Amino acid sequence: MAKDPKLATRNAQLFRKLPSVDELLHQSEMAQIVEREGRAATLDATRAVLERLRAAISAGPIDDQQLELAIGGFAEAVERELRRSLQMSLRQVINSTGVVLHTNLGRAPLSGAALDHARRVATTYSNLEFNLDSGERGKRDVHVERLFARLLSEYEDDISTVVVNNNAAAVLLALNTLAEGGEVVVSRGELVEIGGSFRIPDVMSKSGATLREVGTTNRTRLADYERALNERTRLILRVHRSNFQIVGFTEQPSLGELVEVAHKRGLPILEDLGSGALFEMRTLGIGGEPGVGDSLRAGVDVVTYSGDKLLGGPQAGMLSGRREIIARIRSNPLFRALRVDKLIYAALEATLLAYVRQDHDAVPALRMMRLSAEEIGKRAQALAHKLRPPVSGEVIEGESLIGGGAAPGAGLPTRLLALTCEGLGADEFASRLRKNDPPIVARVEEGRVLLDLRTVFPEQDEQIGNALQAIGQ
Ligand SMILES: *Cc1c(COP(=O)(O)O)cnc(C)c1O
Repeated sequence: MAKDPKLATRNAQLFRKLPSVDELLHQSEMAQIVEREGRAATLDATRAVLERLRAAISAGPIDDQQLELAIGGFAEAVERELRRSLQMSLRQVINSTGVVLHTNLGRAPLSGAALDHARRVATTYSNLEFNLDSGERGKRDVHVERLFARLLSEYEDDISTVVVNNNAAAVLLALNTLAEGGEVVVSRGELVEIGGSFRIPDVMSKSGATLREVGTTNRTRLADYERALNERTRLILRVHRSNFQIVGFTEQPSLGELVEVAHKRGLPILEDLGSGALFEMRTLGIGGEPGVGDSLRAGVDVVTYSGDKLLGGPQAGMLSGRREIIARIRSNPLFRALRVDKLIYAALEATLLAYVRQDHDAVPALRMMRLSAEEIGKRAQALAHKLRPPVSGEVIEGESLIGGGAAPGAGLPTRLLALTCEGLGADEFASRLRKNDPPIVARVEEGRVLLDLRTVFPEQDEQIGNALQAIGQ
């Protein structure tokens, strides 16, 4: 309320002129809105607009004329408010950061085939847990299990796979099944934290297993593992350093050596791969990033990996490994609590089918990773030609990142569109791009806005072009 007594009296008069919610709802324009949007939503919007008007009067100064104008435009304001409040919060954005598996932007985009399958299966009933041959109850895992078995059979026979909510859940479930009440031996160099507060020591304690750290941050030898093994040891755990590298004076036993030590003592070995590629990363010129097949071939008993990282599917966590161990994992009551929905099975099944057909370009994340710098450069050049003052730019060389905790040290060569806008700082420029519909997310480096079209779908190039032209106006 205004401190000035004259102003307070004046405001009180204005408040009295405000129509009541009831009066407003009886206006003919408002009655139409009620009919279309429902009484409850319209009522909420009306109250919100009235509240804003009251706040404007208090903040003042407002004269009679302005108030009448506001009251005259009330129905329109209510419509605007309704549109705003009914707008989806989760929106499509254009990812021009060049980070293919961007955790903040939803990681792997799904293929059209994955969504079509999910839509077909989920908008009607399905045989999710129904055996159509016998007419009896079936298992939800069978739909993808057969495809994983096929994809992984070239590395190891008799591999079984179960799916849970995400890789964090997969690790928790594996540790709880295999090591609850016992010790798990892990190298100090692998006690990692993955973005979003997934920390190996915390997951370990929630699983009911005790962490037995060995070695040092940069060096862990086979003898360190051997010394730590005792009658309480249940498992050896290897964690992929998916989001950082240790360089310099380092040592780590090979997976094969570790498998040998574990199996000699009759212990299982679990590897948390994180990304878990089902294809040869070497074909992208990226070395040293082990795939699921590499781990199984080395003799690891269970591998855990994400569905929405290098696999390019929906959010999920896979546990692939020796049949009898996976059977134990499946019968853990925690598995029931962590299981995934039919939408995920459908999207995963369609994604895996692309792998079985070796149609890697059908998986959007893989297609993006396979784009050459020349192809990306041509598209960037086409956009550069359309730039008009105050926006200007040039095509330069750069690197795209895979992201999602895969190949932390390796980038993919790309071409970037480096932009500046006269009279606008780079941060302000980037912020304007985020206000576009759909929002465009870009990198800012050294005073320029950088667009990497690797992660932009070609049909979105035009939207970027339009947004860049609109910035100048
Ligand atoms: C990403 C990652 C996780 C977590 O996986 P989510 O699917 O995000 O739950 C765990 N471990 C490693 C090594 C990872 O890279």
